[in-house]
Amino acid sequence: MTLTGFAQAVYVLAAVLFVLSLAGLSRQESARRGNLLGMVGMALALAATVALALDTSQRPAAVTGALIAVVLLIGLAVGVWRARSVEMTQMPELIAILHSFVGAAAVLVGYGSYLTEPGADTVHLVEVFLGVLIGAVTFTGSVVAYLKLSARISSAPLTLPARNLLNLAMLVVSALLMVWFLASASVVPLLLMTLVALALGWHLVASIGGGDMPVVVSMLNSYSGWAAAAAGFMLGNDLLIVTGALVGASGAILSYLMCRAMNRSFVSVILGGFGAAEGTAASGGDVTGEHREVSAEDVAAMLRDARSVVITPGYGMAVAKAQYPVAQLVARLREGGTQVRFGVHPVAGRLPGHMNVLLAEAKVPYDIVLEMDEINDDLASTDVVLVIGANDTVNPAALEDPGSPIAGMPVLRVWEARQVVVFKRSMATGYAGVQNPLFFRENTAMLFGDAREQTERIVAAL
Ligand code: NDP
Repeated sequence: MTLTGFAQAVYVLAAVLFVLSLAGLSRQESARRGNLLGMVGMALALAATVALALDTSQRPAAVTGALIAVVLLIGLAVGVWRARSVEMTQMPELIAILHSFVGAAAVLVGYGSYLTEPGADTVHLVEVFLGVLIGAVTFTGSVVAYLKLSARISSAPLTLPARNLLNLAMLVVSALLMVWFLASASVVPLLLMTLVALALGWHLVASIGGGDMPVVVSMLNSYSGWAAAAAGFMLGNDLLIVTGALVGASGAILSYLMCRAMNRSFVSVILGGFGAAEGTAASGGDVTGEHREVSAEDVAAMLRDARSVVITPGYGMAVAKAQYPVAQLVARLREGGTQVRFGVHPVAGRLPGHMNVLLAEAKVPYDIVLEMDEINDDLASTDVVLVIGANDTVNPAALEDPGSPIAGMPVLRVWEARQVVVFKRSMATGYAGVQNPLFFRENTAMLFGDAREQTERIVAAL
């Protein structure tokens, strides 16, 4: 068997491992194995690719090897440094910026492929053009998502007049440039399209705001997959095509599921914030009333009397790193015979699965961590609900106030429980910037302060 044939066989194996990895990642219990399979697949793919590069390179193998080693080391150093230093709350930012690398890579591969293969046929030119287009949109889109998620720029949607027409115009101009490019194979239309695509990516994500951000991250995940697949076509690399398609399709499916969870239309989010103008802007300051404050000791007493407790965690639990004392609290209550379960909203926190990861990290048993749909109907018969650092995901206005910016978003109906305790530091709004009438309900008590400290106090009092 030739080296190329062998490498192709390794690629098929790696592709199978990637599929198994995705399957594993779909459930908490098998997520670790899924990660491992993915890593093995990636190691095999890298090894085969390096072997192929050394074999087919026109330079001496030592030079090619050294070049690859240098870039690998740089990538490794930056990757290890970032992954070790990133806080769990910054994960979405990290993912967003990583997507921008995929986009940039697709653009560079496109130009590299164009410059090194003069006189290529039309099919190849189409691949180059589309690869650069998707890559450039992904690149700037991801950079904007990174800036928004890390609060370096405002997360409010940019609402230029006629912004949908603007997007459409940029697509039409790109299509015309493609015709020019195919007819002339000149670099000018390619360069012009790159500029247009960079602007399009920037504008698409800039016009999405607030509560739609999670969908944007997963949508960019999908774009980055298609960008990688396009690079695979340009390089004639089957594994890259398969992997890109897997990422592209799974990102698209996840985006769709999240849109359903937030009651946003998929098309409107993808196209950049139709309806987001009034949908996510900060507002709702007119909800007022009296709120009732309790102490950690009061909550401990409440919990001592409760037979069933549901905990609905949110972004604040992640910020406070409260999952550890929460896990202790759960263990303590369960020892005393109290039924304790978690209700996790699909977009609680700042990335899909955020809460599940934190709870698994703190070794909370999987079988008591339920999804919103699994727990919602049980809330009415629950004695105490502890809302730990969640806000938008437990906002009754989403169901009761058609004028609310988050109207229609499915939420955890915590107010149906006998008692609700909300852990947060102030009366401030959550991510969507909407005031929460839950805080003023009769059966709601506010436990102000850092969620970690307060939970520790409750554990101590118990
Ligand atoms: P929210 O962002 O609505 O609210 C979090 C609350 O936590 C805040 O009101 C804050 O109140 C409180 N908090 C912050 N720090 C602490 C602390 N140290 N101790 C105690 N409380 C604290 O959270 P949710 O999880 O309910 O909702 C997620 C929101 O994020 C949704 O709007 C969702 O659409 C959006 N989003 C979700 C993504 C995802 O994929 N999951 C990605 C991006 C956005 P205070 O300041 O008073 O303490």
